[in-house]
Amino acid sequence: MLTRLVYHSENHLGAADGKMIAGLNAIMDASNRNNQRDGITGALLFDTLWFVQILEGERDAVSAALRRIMSDDRHDAVTIMDARPASERLFGNWWMGLALLRDEHKTVLARHGLAKLDPRKMPGEQAIALALELAQSGLNRRLTPTAA
Ligand code: FAD
Repeated sequence: MLTRLVYHSENHLGAADGKMIAGLNAIMDASNRNNQRDGITGALLFDTLWFVQILEGERDAVSAALRRIMSDDRHDAVTIMDARPASERLFGNWWMGLALLRDEHKTVLARHGLAKLDPRKMPGEQAIALALELAQSGLNRRLTPTAA
């Protein structure tokens, strides 16, 4: 059964650019490698305080990924926002696409009724809609310090 799960968590990578980007890239490398193996697609939104991740795939595969992700000390306070059966993949082009939210995304956030990313106040559907709009202009597979 195809399942889509949305969660948010608190960043423990720190906020220093170099360390944060190296940490994000290690996460993205493992995510792309494992998700391709496991048939998982999705998006990861990050704004230095929060992660919001959408995982879609077979329910067993999504559950196994979530168990690994929940025990990862690079973030904390993993909170499920939504989990339900899905009729199709929304992020089928991305084993895991990353959006690093910066000031330039303020207008996109505003279109979704948000002054900033605060996932504690967001329904899962809103996070998915935001991620889909960000995906239209392209997500990242990994980051370089100059591109971030
Ligand atoms: P390994 O190949 O052993 O590790 C992968 C890389 O991560 C290595 O560079 C390793 O040194 C580093 N690493 C692993 N654990 C830690 C840690 N606790 N602290 C610092 N560095 C570490 N995994 C997925 O498979 N799919 C996902 O979609 C996914 N999304 C994630 C989203 C977030 C916000 C976070 C924090 C992690 C995510 N992960 C994801 C990573 C996941 O938590 C596991 O680390 C990963 O699945 C382990 O894969 P592996 O056994 O191949 O690890």
